[in-house]
Amino acid sequence: MEQVLLALAGNQNSGKTTLFNVLTGSNQHVGNFPGVTVEKKVGQVKAIPQASLVDLPGIYSLSPYTSEEVVTRDFILQEHPQVIINIVDATNIERNLYLTLQLMELQVPMVVALNMMDEVIASGNSIRIKELSEQLGIPMVPISAARKQGINELIREVKRTIKNPPAPKKPDFCKGEVHRALHAIAHIIEDHAQAAHYPLRFAATKLVENDEPMRKALHLHDDDLHIIEDIVASMEHALETDREAALADMRYSYIEEICRNNVCKVQETITQQRSEKIDRWLTHRYLGIPIFIMIMLLIFYLTFTVLGGTLQIWMEAGIDALVEQFSRLLNQIGVSEWLHALLIDGVCTGVGSVLSFLPIIVILFFFLSLLEDSGYMARVAFVMDQFLRKIGLSGRSFVPMLIGFGCSVPAIMATRTLSSDRDRKMTILLTPFMSCSAKLPIYGMITAAFFPRHGAWILISVYLLGILTAILSGLLLKHTVFQGDSVPFVMELPAYRIPAARSVILHMWEKAKDFLHRAFTVIFVASILIWFLQSFDWHLNYLNNSSQSILASLGSALAQLFAPLGFTDWRAATALVSGISAKESVVSTLSVLVGGNDAQLSLALQTIFTPLSAYAFLAFTVLYMPCIAAFAATKRELGTWKEALLTIGYQTLAAYMVGMLIYQIGILFV
Ligand code: GDP
Ligand code: MG
Repeated sequence: MEQVLLALAGNQNSGKTTLFNVLTGSNQHVGNFPGVTVEKKVGQVKAIPQASLVDLPGIYSLSPYTSEEVVTRDFILQEHPQVIINIVDATNIERNLYLTLQLMELQVPMVVALNMMDEVIASGNSIRIKELSEQLGIPMVPISAARKQGINELIREVKRTIKNPPAPKKPDFCKGEVHRALHAIAHIIEDHAQAAHYPLRFAATKLVENDEPMRKALHLHDDDLHIIEDIVASMEHALETDREAALADMRYSYIEEICRNNVCKVQETITQQRSEKIDRWLTHRYLGIPIFIMIMLLIFYLTFTVLGGTLQIWMEAGIDALVEQFSRLLNQIGVSEWLHALLIDGVCTGVGSVLSFLPIIVILFFFLSLLEDSGYMARVAFVMDQFLRKIGLSGRSFVPMLIGFGCSVPAIMATRTLSSDRDRKMTILLTPFMSCSAKLPIYGMITAAFFPRHGAWILISVYLLGILTAILSGLLLKHTVFQGDSVPFVMELPAYRIPAARSVILHMWEKAKDFLHRAFTVIFVASILIWFLQSFDWHLNYLNNSSQSILASLGSALAQLFAPLGFTDWRAATALVSGISAKESVVSTLSVLVGGNDAQLSLALQTIFTPLSAYAFLAFTVLYMPCIAAFAATKRELGTWKEALLTIGYQTLAAYMVGMLIYQIGILFV
């Protein structure tokens, strides 16, 4: 068999990624959250050698309303997959078939995978698949992607379709006025559609729908365009609706017709009924946001105090013991003083100080992936929409912002799903204010030294500070740089589902891997560099006292800048600069600079900061420019250096102002 290309298309949350993983044996993240798959992903199909499968983003239509729809449509029209596997959520069959009808217009051989059949059956519903498949003229295979049922049958059907592609059928499910308009237009544009390699019927439908990219691509003469507009106008007049509604009506009434006579008898499934009950509370008009805040507080409490806090102490003790053994070993083999210092005071101290936060990161992501996979996060976006609208954003911006609590890099990339340029730019600017997980070690270090008994509150206040700054910035920008309103937000709420253990574990593992990777690359190198700069003076003499070092002379120049924030020690300024390489580096740098274990670090910090200036320092670290990786993502997504630099300039300025306000106001009271 020669190389074949298969495409997986379907609505959001129909189980595309689950099926993709089953078919390719890969580990893409599955989420009960619309908009998780933004880019297309490719994998080899295990059961069909030479077949690659593309997981396309979830969509509802083939009209260019969102970037996902554009990605899908361009892919199918330009890459010409041999077969489209259209995955249909059988518990929502009527709405899902809406996309199926549009895919049929593309005239690419198709197999429908009727997913979630386990839920359909469990709720006592039925679909007469054979009849439905005959009516539509497409093969249909019932499956359950999550339970790996029906997969072999699906593969067999796909293989059969690859081998004997059905002759292109002329899908004709239009009637009356729409039918007349479509056929009249098809007649006019036939040559143009052929020249541009578009299926005729699809091109005609898109013109009726007033689709701008299609009109451009066809290169029609002005005369033809006028005639087409006349045809559409008379159709609108006869039907008394607008052009887009006319086609939507046509598709839905066709679906209704084929689903009649008990062909699809799908009443609300048990899962859907349960979801409605849960939603009465969780998306309640007044209780929705308070409940969300309570849940987040509980998660923070469990993560930082109960579970993660304890594990972290064990981890620290373990690392300390290991480093001690290592140090003894080095002494035994008699390495020179400076090499011993480099390895123990540089590498081990720097990397170790960051490594001990691994348990906290993993546990936090355990909870966040539970929230996401259960379908709750989609509700939060929905509940937050009204609120975000007030600061010039929409519920859609909530997705990137939430990802921002993990890491700004994927968060900034996720802004691609936003359809308006204005919303995108604003979200990219505000997302880094959501405190990312790399900053957790910094909060841990400062609370241990200054607020050991109020850890959870300090943490909550820092997160709120970030959110508050984002809100105020949003208000400011909405009335200055980014005037106007954000685009309306439509998102379907997926049913609540019990998260699959596999998916949650995968998510945690990915985070842990990422964190470890950073600890042993960026932090490793930064620790060595910092150790070097603080151990030698400009004449490369090895020093015992770092106050004469290269780093001290560089840091001192900068340190005065932070006087209004209450700290002028060169080590604090240096740590902030090194934090640009990666935020954890603030901790590793300070650890390397003051040397020693955690108790010694706390004592040393108390000579650098007062509790108030330590808090101003925290505030600054939450808000100032993101790390270099996030900056690169910002530049990539915004496109120009100017905008990217303005963005981080604004962030750093905001950080400075907030830190200064905290210190200057605080000093009046203490
Ligand atoms: P996508 O948005 O289309 O990529 O959908 P996902 O693959 O991320 O799945 C969305 C949700 O549906 C996840 O919670 C899956 O665990 C769940 N899911 C997928 N397939 C099935 C199935 O066959 N049965 C049931 N009950 N749940 C499924
Ligand atoms: Mg997906």
